[in-house]
Amino acid sequence: MIKIAVVLFILIAGVSIWKLTDTAKSKTYVKEKSISNPDSTKSNGENMSDKIIKTDEEWKKELTPEQYHILREKGTERAFTGKYWDSHELGTYICAACSTELFESDTKFESGCGWPSYFEPIDSSRIIYKDDNSFGMKRTEVMCAICGGHLGHVFDDGPPPTGLRYCINSGSMKFIPKEK
Ligand SMILES: [Zn+2]
Repeated sequence: MIKIAVVLFILIAGVSIWKLTDTAKSKTYVKEKSISNPDSTKSNGENMSDKIIKTDEEWKKELTPEQYHILREKGTERAFTGKYWDSHELGTYICAACSTELFESDTKFESGCGWPSYFEPIDSSRIIYKDDNSFGMKRTEVMCAICGGHLGHVFDDGPPPTGLRYCINSGSMKFIPKEK
């Protein structure tokens, strides 16, 4: 009788331990899966593979000296001197380096700052945001997400609906007029 009880006990204990380790295993598996998933979409996602990477020499050949200075050397055109600060035409503003569509004319507004200003980009995934503490100022730099070209800065003193002001160098963009 005691022997049977001991055997039964060992059996039950064995099964429950086996079950415990099994659930523990499946839990870690789920955990690993949920962690690795976002990473794999990041590294294999469209955004990464669509990036355009060129050498400085290649960019120098393709861009005008002004475009190169702004896009690749993070330069800034003087206020009220660019092509687009006072433009009111309907159309799309694209990256001068890689032609990614960045801003629509219907999000452009009169900021009075001397650079073309928009309250939102066509798609925020086409913009890279980076803290910029140069010149003793706390600003947020905006770059083209596809080619990494410097575009300008974004400030939080814009109009509704976003309250943002994308202050962009004309020289970093080209304008495609809307077909009539
Ligand atoms: Zn670009």
